[in-house]
Amino acid sequence: MGKLLFWIILGAAIYLGYRLFLVSQRRSERAAQQAARKREREEQGEPMRSCAHCGVHVPQSDAVAHGGQYFCSIAHRDEAARR
Ligand SMILES: [Zn+2]
Repeated sequence: MGKLLFWIILGAAIYLGYRLFLVSQRRSERAAQQAARKREREEQGEPMRSCAHCGVHVPQSDAVAHGGQYFCSIAHRDEAARR
């Protein structure tokens, strides 16, 4: 009787461990999907601006605005202003 109980408990423990493993795997999969979707949204949602000096494309939040134009860096804004 004691042996049977041992096997039942062992089986239940293995089953629970397997379920926990599945749940944690599904959770990490979902987290990866959400991160990918967030990245996509950020890429699509943010307008890109091309530098008026060198033509490089930068997200608007990273661009330096000056006189209605956008620049990739303060150095290029200053260089364009000097000309
Ligand atoms: Zn530039």
